[in-house]
Amino acid sequence: MYDCVIIGGGPGGICAAIYAIRAGMKTVIVEKLGIGGQIALSDIIENYPGFPSLSGGELMKNFEDHAKAVGAEFIYTEVKKIEPSTKGISITTSKDAIDTKSVIICTGAQPKRLGFKGEEEFVGRGISNCATCDGPFYRNKPVAVIGGGDTAVKESIYLSKISSKVYHVHRRDRFRAEKVLRDRIMTRDNIEFLWMTSVEEALGDESGVTGLRVTNKDGKTSDIAVDGIFVFVGISPNTGFIDCDKDSQGFIITNENMETSVPGVFAAGDCRVTPLRQVVTSVGDAAIAAFKAEEYVSELEGQGYESSAKA
Ligand code: NAP
Repeated sequence: MYDCVIIGGGPGGICAAIYAIRAGMKTVIVEKLGIGGQIALSDIIENYPGFPSLSGGELMKNFEDHAKAVGAEFIYTEVKKIEPSTKGISITTSKDAIDTKSVIICTGAQPKRLGFKGEEEFVGRGISNCATCDGPFYRNKPVAVIGGGDTAVKESIYLSKISSKVYHVHRRDRFRAEKVLRDRIMTRDNIEFLWMTSVEEALGDESGVTGLRVTNKDGKTSDIAVDGIFVFVGISPNTGFIDCDKDSQGFIITNENMETSVPGVFAAGDCRVTPLRQVVTSVGDAAIAAFKAEEYVSELEGQGYESSAKA
C-alpha cells in the first residue's frame, strides 16, 4: 500500500514525486516507457527559469537525478485502470495491481494525427512527429512542416538548420505560436510559408515519402517535392485509463487544488484542462497536487487508516 502513486515520469511526475517524498509519503512513480516525457525530445528550452538555454534531454536528466537523490522509486509498466476500492484506490497495470491512498496523474499528451491520405502508411518512412528524433535523416533534403502552434514553429526553425528547405504549411494566415517564436521563424531564409493551405495527401513509393499534395486558398492543388513531412497539429491527452470528469478532448478537469472528480485522485500538467502547457506550469501543478495529496492522506489516517510511510 502506497500513500501516493504518481503516474507519468515527465516534469510533472518527477516534481510531484520530489514534493510527495519530502512530505513523508510512501511514493512510487509508474512510467510506461522512460523518464523525461515529451519535453525530453525538445532540442532547446529557453523559458525554464534558472536555465537560460539547455536541451529537453539535459533538463530532464537533472530532474531524474534530483528524484533519485530524494529516493524516488520507479515502476516501469503501463497503467490500464484506476478505480476506487475498499482499500483506497486500486491501480491495474500491465504487471501487478497497486494499492494506494492517493494518485497524481501526470501522463501528459501525445501528438495528434491530421488524418490525410498516406499519413498512417508513411509513419516512420517519411512522416514524423519529432524533429529532434528524425530531423537528422533529412540533412540537406527538403521537408514539409504542418501546423501553427509553438511546436510546429519551434520544430520548423530546428529543421531549417538541418534541411535544405522547409515548406511550412498552415491552414490560416498567421501562427498561434508565442511571439518570440513567430519573430524567430521569420529570420530563417530557407523556410517557405504556405499560408491558408490544406494538406491532401502524402505522396511516396516503396522507398518512403517523395512529396506532399496541398491545396491553397484559391482551390489550386499542387505537389511539393519533399523527403520528410513533420506533423504538429496539437496534442491529445493520455487519460483513457481513468473514469473522471474530462473535457470533450479528454483533458482531465481539476479544481485549483488539482483534485479530479474522483476523491484521492489528482492531475497535473499537460493531461489536465489548463490555459498554458509548459514545463514550468506542469511543475507548479505537480507541487500543488502533491501538497494536497498529502493533506488528503493525512485526513484518511486521521480517520483510522494506517500510515504506509510509518508502517
Ligand atoms: P497547438 O497549440 O494546439 O497548435 C496546433 C496547431 O495545429 C494550430 O496551429 C492549429 O491551427 C493546427 N491544427 C490543428 N488541427 C488542424 C487541422 N485539422 N488541420 C490543420 N491544422 C490544424 O499544439 P502544439 O503546438 O502541439 O502545442 C501544445 C501545447 O504545448 C500548447 O499549449 C503549447 O503552448 C505548448 N508548447 C509550448 C512550447 C514552448 O516552448 N513554449 C513548445 C511546444 C508546445 P490553428 O492555429 O488554425 O488552430
